[in-house]
Amino acid sequence: MYRRVLLKLSGEQLQGQYAGGFDAERAAWIANEIKKVENTQIVIMVGGGNYARGEQLAGSGVQRVTADNIGMLGTLMNALALVDVFNANDLPARVVTNIKADQVADQFTHRRVLSHLAKGRVVVAAGGIGRPYLTTDTAAVSLALELDCDAIFKATKVDGVYDKDPQQHDDAVKFDTLTLNEAVVRPDVKVMDQAAIALAEDHSQSIVVFELLKEDNIRRAISGEQIGTTIRK
Ligand code: UDP
Repeated sequence: MYRRVLLKLSGEQLQGQYAGGFDAERAAWIANEIKKVENTQIVIMVGGGNYARGEQLAGSGVQRVTADNIGMLGTLMNALALVDVFNANDLPARVVTNIKADQVADQFTHRRVLSHLAKGRVVVAAGGIGRPYLTTDTAAVSLALELDCDAIFKATKVDGVYDKDPQQHDDAVKFDTLTLNEAVVRPDVKVMDQAAIALAEDHSQSIVVFELLKEDNIRRAISGEQIGTTIRK
């Protein structure tokens, strides 16, 4: 049983049935899945790849820093919409942002997040870690450490970590468990980007990779059932 967890949702998951942007139906489905979780505080780090990824957007005059700022703004757009849909579906939720956007969201502070969590609200963190050259995966690990989360739950399209892409290779083998060190050193194991997984290893932060779109998976994963791949010390 986990006391407090960080759920990482990528932009791709929030775009749902569309080629980009935000799918409110998908968000409502996620809200109803999260409502099944009892007695666990949940912080969500949202990605922004459904709007922009700095690495891809940079070039032809767009500076990398600008591109990353745009990426972070994309995560804020996701967070704002997600929290509205959560609240509309009777899942109390609040946005906090790591980039300054006074007009649209409260600034992240450690104390503010703990206060929301204590009141039973889901907290959605926007803006990654608030600096360029990073991803929301790295931001997720950093935030999980800062908030003393028991584990990170990384929701994905496939049901765990494989030695190669299971959508392209019939003989791909799924790992039920991995050590954080294996996730760092094995080239065939791709869980998060190198910076993110190295930070997790340095601080023994456990990560569970699981399939988002299966009914009850969020509840089952967070209640400690062995689904997906568990990566720990
Ligand atoms: N980003 C950043 N700093 C952060 C987090 C994100 O600069 O701390 C930018 C970066 O350009 C990234 C984009 O925001 O590509 C969107 O985040 P990410 O690619 O992690 O989203 P996801 O793939 O999870 O949808």
